[in-house]
Amino acid sequence: MASMSRRVAGFGTTVFSEINALARAHGAVNLGQGAPDFDGPPEVLAAAVTAVNRQLNQYAPGIGMATARAAIARHAERFYGQRLDPESEVLITSGATEGIFAAILGLADAGDEVIVFEPVYDSYVPNMVMAGVTPRYVALRGDDWTFDPDELANAFNPRTRAIIVNTPHNPTGKVYSRAELTMIGELCQKHDVVAITDEVYEHILYDGVAHTRLATLPGMAERTLTISSLGKTFSVTGWKVGWAVGPEPLITAVNRAHQFITFAVAAPLQAAVATALDQPPAFYSDLQTMYQSKRDRMLGVLQKAGFETIKPQGSYFIMADWRGVAPSRIKDDLQFAEWLTTKIGVACIPPSIFYQDSDKHLGRYLARFAACKKDETLAAAAARLSKLSDD
Ligand code: PMP
Ligand code: GLN
Repeated sequence: MASMSRRVAGFGTTVFSEINALARAHGAVNLGQGAPDFDGPPEVLAAAVTAVNRQLNQYAPGIGMATARAAIARHAERFYGQRLDPESEVLITSGATEGIFAAILGLADAGDEVIVFEPVYDSYVPNMVMAGVTPRYVALRGDDWTFDPDELANAFNPRTRAIIVNTPHNPTGKVYSRAELTMIGELCQKHDVVAITDEVYEHILYDGVAHTRLATLPGMAERTLTISSLGKTFSVTGWKVGWAVGPEPLITAVNRAHQFITFAVAAPLQAAVATALDQPPAFYSDLQTMYQSKRDRMLGVLQKAGFETIKPQGSYFIMADWRGVAPSRIKDDLQFAEWLTTKIGVACIPPSIFYQDSDKHLGRYLARFAACKKDETLAAAAARLSKLSDD
């Protein structure tokens, strides 16, 4: 009996699960998976607890709870001036992860192409494989992770149905500039292609860099599906409450898939969405101040240990070249991540997993560190990493 479908047989286990297991087994300080080791705002947590105790424990509407959809629309207008009808232009999904999968299933047919930038967040391509869609890669290069405009233009062809843009970007920390997004938007319009944006790090930005929502650029409102979630902004990655917003025809298409994947998202957690997104301006600015200080601290720790760091503009990740710190027998990022986790006691993610097979060498000398950890966790990591520069 074949125990696995051909569809999933090539996937293996995600690197996040593997590194978590390795970190646990070796008692490593885990700077691998991008999840905070601290809780979100107490009032947001309390809103979910209250909902459980007030019997909000049955199925929510498939499209999402009305109070949550209204809050998502308010947030889009407040931060981006984006006007959305909460009745028809907001869909609540099980995290951004389900939103992206449902978007691919709902918007592209088997045999179509979807453009992604590489390095690419790990779920997009498996999502496409499951949908029979072909990924088309455009490289982000250099320390500022820019793309070649001609390479992007050439990636569009008659089979292209969509492009996925993740900004701020995981794993690089790149924040796409307005000029880059304008170029992407113009190509989408020229080729009649839908843009799917993954903006889960929309509020984690450094050095005063601004986040631009592609949906708000000229001509893009009618062809952009914007996806985000509570996980990162409110430090509740375990809740898996996300959303897709955009024009009614796109939301209807995505909901066709969503209704048969999860049907609806955890009701009591949706009940906390308004408390979260309606937080006052100080919450959002304090979040940036907190993460800026964690990023700066980790950049210093990594540099002192001998890494060459690439400064991120957003997200909670730092990419660093490890060649200055590893013993000469370490040949690639997979070996390095394993060595750092098991021998030094600090877990990181090997970035080659964010590349297709033919490009894995581009991640070979890098490691991705997550800075979304308590100060004491960062201090423990710093103490262990300082061993690297001792000898
Ligand atoms: N997109 C990106 C770029 C991510 O880094 C992550 C993981 N944190 C997700 C999507 C998943 O988001 P969620 O937890 O809301 O499913
Ligand atoms: N997005 C998180 C990261 O990149 C991981 C989420 C997951 O484990 N799938 O670290």
